[in-house]
Amino acid sequence: MRIEKTDRNLNGVKCVVNTCYYHTDGDYCSAAKIEIQPRNASSTEETDCATFTPSMK
Ligand code: SF4
Repeated sequence: MRIEKTDRNLNGVKCVVNTCYYHTDGDYCSAAKIEIQPRNASSTEETDCATFTPSMK
């Protein structure tokens, strides 16, 4: 299920993934909600945003 793209930035979230459909100017996320994975991660590098969707260029 695709998450809704809103006209506001998700409070408290900075995201620099500028190839994502939800990314907005200033490095924000406009998704209604995000999910971070995986469970039992053991490092910063191991975690990432499961809501990422490639932007259509
Ligand atoms: S959905 Fe995830 S990857 Fe995409 S802009 Fe939001 S936080 Fe970044």
